[in-house]
Amino acid sequence: MQPSLLDKLACPMDKGDLSLNIYTRDTTGNIIEGMLHCAHCNRQYPIIYGLPILAPDEYRQPTLENNITRHWPKELTN
Ligand SMILES: [Zn+2]
Repeated sequence: MQPSLLDKLACPMDKGDLSLNIYTRDTTGNIIEGMLHCAHCNRQYPIIYGLPILAPDEYRQPTLENNITRHWPKELTN
């Protein structure tokens, strides 16, 4: 995803603003892997293969997310 997209994203649960930790970028600066964090509810949403996974709790797949994010630095995962 493009870093500027962050301005348009909000937490799907409470519409809170999100902060971004970037883990991997491609050569054009797009974010490939990262973690979005909502300071309001403390949820974290991973960016996987360039796509922010901004799903409400009932549609999230922790097993799928953990398979990918477990390879990331511990401080970026929940
Ligand atoms: Zn939130």
